[in-house]
Amino acid sequence: MSEIILGIESTAHTAGVGIITSEGKILSNQRSVYIPDKGEGIHPREAANHHSEKFPILFKSALEEANLSPKEITLVSYARGPGLGPCLRTGATAARAFAYAHNIPFLGVNHCVAHLEIGLLEGATDPVLLYLSGANTQVIAYAAGRYRVFGETIDIGIGNGLDKFAREAGMGFPGGPKLEKIAEGDELIDLPYSVKGMDLAFSGLMTAAKQKVDAGHSLPSIAYSVQETAFAMSCEVSERALAHTGKTELVLGGGVACNSRLREMAMTMAEERGVKCFVPEKALCVDNGVMIGWLGYQMMAADYEITDDDNRVNQKYRTDMVEVTWR
Ligand code: AMP
Ligand code: MG
Repeated sequence: MSEIILGIESTAHTAGVGIITSEGKILSNQRSVYIPDKGEGIHPREAANHHSEKFPILFKSALEEANLSPKEITLVSYARGPGLGPCLRTGATAARAFAYAHNIPFLGVNHCVAHLEIGLLEGATDPVLLYLSGANTQVIAYAAGRYRVFGETIDIGIGNGLDKFAREAGMGFPGGPKLEKIAEGDELIDLPYSVKGMDLAFSGLMTAAKQKVDAGHSLPSIAYSVQETAFAMSCEVSERALAHTGKTELVLGGGVACNSRLREMAMTMAEERGVKCFVPEKALCVDNGVMIGWLGYQMMAADYEITDDDNRVNQKYRTDMVEVTWR
């Protein structure tokens, strides 16, 4: 029998409710993004307030779009981490309330793993995931029962770095897309290229970029150089992960994976290595409820047993803490 899964996302700035069938048909993908006041970063409690205000309408719109009544949902899945505590608890409460009210089983899943699994829906089978989002920057692949982190940022997430730089340069939020729009030029300004082994660092790069603004360089050239540098670093680590693991598929995920230049660089690298590159549509790259629902279903289909842990959020729920039983 076909299952209908409702997925709830609320790890950071995005409140999302998605509905997907066990065959992978997406019936709805509703999202609302908290935008901080001008000049400020994301405030966890403010973001959580935004989510609790928006969830009722997101649930309603998702069910309406899917043309379903709550009773037709067979599974509820929410992201139990990693993320910001107040935001996670808001999503967990919404999931619990909906599931209990309609007597539907519910489980909590790992947000980062969901970004990878949605790439499998695109046709990948055993990929390396380059996951570039606001708070997270990781290169992930499956090995010996878990999704292993082959490389990651050792300071800030790439998206938060782009946002911070853009904010300081007076461009507003979210910075990533704004920088992409103005990035232009052939003048590659020298910026710190920080790859340490398999890990990455973005903080120094963004500080140096701000210094170039103060020194009077043109903003389009700096935006161009920030993108070239940060994306080349990310592609380098992904390429090495592909080489070490011998895997032949690359999946892009996370909000920064919406960037055309990043997509182009990743596809060029993949092509040169003879690796297939999967780029989910933008609505599935950014934080969304569909991927949370899809992962929940994969786990349940492999006889995952719901425990008390599924009732608890975990702010530091690392990718490699999840025992992968469904592959
Ligand atoms: P996520 O945390 O995965 O929802 O992604 C949000 C992050 O993606 C924010 O830091 C955005 O600035 C960034 N982002 C979104 N679109 C783009 C883009 N086109 N280029 C670069 N970064 C982007
Ligand atoms: Mg994410």
